[in-house]
Amino acid sequence: MLTSALRVELERIVGQDHVIDDPAALQRYGTDAMNRGTAADLVVLPGSTGEVSQVARACYAAKVPFVPRGGGTGYSGGAVPLRGGVVISLERLNRIIEIDEENLLAVVEPSVVTGDLQAAVERVGLFYPPDPASLRQSVIGGNVAECAGGPRAFKYGTTKRYVLGLEAVLPTGEVIETGSKAVKNVVGYDLTQLLVGSEGTLAIITRVILRLLPRPPAVATLRATFADIDGAVAAVTELLRARVIPATLEIIDAECLESVARYTGAEMAPAGTGAMLLVEVDGLEQAVSEEIIRVDAAVRTAGAREVLRASNEAERQELWRVRRELSPSLKLIAPVKFNHDVVVPRGRVPQLFDLVARLRRESRLKIPCFGHAGDGNIHVNIMVDPGEEGAMDRAQEAQVSLFRGVVALEGSISGEHGIGFAKAPYIALELSPVEIDLMQRVKRVFDPEGLLNPGKIFPG
Ligand SMILES: Cc1cc2nc3c(=O)[nH]c(=O)nc-3n(C[C@H](O)[C@H](O)[C@H](O)COP(=O)(O)OP(=O)(O)OC[C@H]3O[C@@H](n4cnc5c(N)ncnc54)[C@H](O)[C@@H]3O)c2cc1C
Repeated sequence: MLTSALRVELERIVGQDHVIDDPAALQRYGTDAMNRGTAADLVVLPGSTGEVSQVARACYAAKVPFVPRGGGTGYSGGAVPLRGGVVISLERLNRIIEIDEENLLAVVEPSVVTGDLQAAVERVGLFYPPDPASLRQSVIGGNVAECAGGPRAFKYGTTKRYVLGLEAVLPTGEVIETGSKAVKNVVGYDLTQLLVGSEGTLAIITRVILRLLPRPPAVATLRATFADIDGAVAAVTELLRARVIPATLEIIDAECLESVARYTGAEMAPAGTGAMLLVEVDGLEQAVSEEIIRVDAAVRTAGAREVLRASNEAERQELWRVRRELSPSLKLIAPVKFNHDVVVPRGRVPQLFDLVARLRRESRLKIPCFGHAGDGNIHVNIMVDPGEEGAMDRAQEAQVSLFRGVVALEGSISGEHGIGFAKAPYIALELSPVEIDLMQRVKRVFDPEGLLNPGKIFPG
């Protein structure tokens, strides 16, 4: 599909040094953190919005598919060039253009690493709350395209709450500017929020205006262990009853705790622990000292067996260790992980854990769960050894039952990772035919030929 004429044109636009075609790199740029992909035909690294626009125009004229790529940490295959073609890696657009302390905002290019932006704004007393666990590798453009969340979403919301405006290149090459630096803007349809979470299927984001907050001066961290998951979930309800909104409220189940203990060789919790909560409150010093006492009381009322509070940064890091070691530790359980990020209304988290318990029994698979209890977003990891007869089929069945179950609980099949191609076959479990058709018509308005990131979000 990629003619030599198009290749020559792309080299002219971005310069030969910014075109990648060696087979190993094409494979690398053809996958994301899901590790399922297809090699790109060519990777181009444009250095400006103008170059992105020309690349899009050239691909469109040649009818060759093209896919925007950020940090490549996606968990749903969004950046994978499913139908081949050109991967447009935005990695050279990586400048923090402005941190505007007066207006509490930042203007950034899409490939600023999320953690670097956080560090830069914190140096001047400001705060960018969205904190996907991938923040050392994922970039703002990818976060906006996926509407990334993270542990702090309970109190601070997800990426969409911080996006004031965008510069983006349409598939046909035109450049648009949506929103503005003003915090209020109601002129016309909200194209900014339409592009947030659009998974690189509507436009290529080349600049982002982000809202910032003042950095909370104090933080307090507490870890509570429970006999079982019901106790931990009851503690979440108790906290909400006490009208405490923690900055983070992470829940970790027994299978996860066992896995981390095996991985690190260190017990992470007292023997017999069935679940753990990690709670952090932030804000002004005095408010934080009062709130952490209320958190302490609430978890004890719900039956916490052991409650630890960090009294300095080193202790805080130690309490968080279990959460940090969790993802890598799961590899010890089984080589393949169906990594789901389902979400239910907060009050239905107990039913979600009941559902997972049933799936464990029916599938005879390990399904370690952890997640953001405060917003009902639980990472349900169906672990499979593909060498075990029938295991893949049982995992597949468990996955579909999970999706049906969360939809029945009025939740959603994805709260963070997006649909990409991995979950595309399942969107009809959640969206009606009319809704899917409407979304596909929106897609066609932006991309009549279906060349920008084809095969994503929609089945078929
Ligand atoms: C260890 C780990 C932990 C994670 N934790 C979290 C978490 O806590 N919360 C969470 O939400 N996610 C998490 N993720 C998933 C992932 O990090 C997020 O989805 C992240 O936002 C992807 O960013 P990226 O820069 O890596 O994007 P990529 O993977 O490069 O791309 C993701 C999608 O965005 C599109 N895209 C990228 N850049 C642009 C652009 N400039 N314009 C238009 N479209 C673009 C791509 O086409 C693709 O569809 C985690 C992933 C890993 C590996």
